Amino acid sequence: MDVAKRQSGFSTRAIHHGYDPLAHGGALVSPIYQTATYAFPTVEYGAACFAGEQPGHFYSRISNPTLDLLEQRIASLEGAEAGLALASGMGAITATLWTLLRPGDELIVGQTLYGCTFAFLHHGIGEFGVKIRHVDLNDAQTLAAAINDKTRMIYFESPANPTLELVDIAAVAQAVHGRDIHVVVDNTFCTPYLQRPLELGADLVVHSATKYLSGHGDITAGLVAGRKALIDRIRLQGLKDMTGAVLSPHDASLLMRGIKTLGLRMDRHCANAAQVATFLQGQQQVELLHYPGLPSFAQYALAQRQMRLPGGMIAFELKGGIEAGRRFMNALQLFSRAVSLGDAESLAQHPASMTHSSYTPVERAQHGIGEGLVRLSVGLEDIEDLLADIEQALRASV
Ligand SMILES: *Cc1c(COP(=O)(O)O)cnc(C)c1O
Repeated sequence: MDVAKRQSGFSTRAIHHGYDPLAHGGALVSPIYQTATYAFPTVEYGAACFAGEQPGHFYSRISNPTLDLLEQRIASLEGAEAGLALASGMGAITATLWTLLRPGDELIVGQTLYGCTFAFLHHGIGEFGVKIRHVDLNDAQTLAAAINDKTRMIYFESPANPTLELVDIAAVAQAVHGRDIHVVVDNTFCTPYLQRPLELGADLVVHSATKYLSGHGDITAGLVAGRKALIDRIRLQGLKDMTGAVLSPHDASLLMRGIKTLGLRMDRHCANAAQVATFLQGQQQVELLHYPGLPSFAQYALAQRQMRLPGGMIAFELKGGIEAGRRFMNALQLFSRAVSLGDAESLAQHPASMTHSSYTPVERAQHGIGEGLVRLSVGLEDIEDLLADIEQALRASV
């Protein structure tokens, strides 16, 4: 078999794409270019770099060889022409929106969004003349009615944080096809191993790579992937001039280390979460349960179509509401009470008092975030230990 002629699989690309050890003195793992600036052989060469006539690095807020490799990897995994690395998920989201939206533009967003994204829209870019409309993106008529000639972007998460509600990515892309409207998907909960929005017609994918992509809870990072022309604009405006949200070369290296095991880890996160969800479904204390892998999930058919596996996140409410949820969380011994997600360690958090406290109670109710909702990020531990912890915490919750 000629290895060079066939398209490598996902995990092979996650480990090898864009790097040849023999071009780097044999170093098996890509080096970390810990440098802020770059020497030019002549003034003329430097001028050509600045003019964009000569490819080359000139300052690490714009590009760096270590980040370059990371950017090629995420592009390969998402099926994109180009990628961009930033210092956090919020860095990726804000750089993208600041670049592509202008005062007077309208932005259509999903019903439920990560708390800081919601805050950025309503207290950040929304105060600079961009009109934000929250729309049920799965209702084709509502969506069509919300689009007008000022609409420049549709932005959403699927699954959404924290309700796990899905959006039919292909249907939304189809609804704006041929118009000057960018479809931007936050793919943090899935990673490209589970879902590839660009293949479904989206224009850009953004990530909090702090979560599953890094996978070890030791860095913050963000990524964007899409067409080269768009990525170039976000690099030169949103990253270079508007946010300056540069990822450090050392953190880029840690992120590439995490990405090497992404497929392995996601399989295990999903297998563990499926068992936790099945266990919770059989418990009488559980009032509401959201997990895209359960046939009882409202959008089960869409999950089967759009996602390779249902993910590692579960949200649920107990019959005793917020008080029972608090008792459950405080009784957990193996799950940590912590925000963030996608780590080896299992985490539990209470969106109303933590990640989604930037919503007012009225806004939470409008956006489907129950006050008693508990969100689990199911980690990589042994399933017997996870189930034992949940079982004892449920007993303590009544
Ligand atoms: C965490 C998160 C973000 C923000 O990412 P940071 O790396 O924390 O800045 C954005 N979107 C989603 C869905 C997230 O879970």
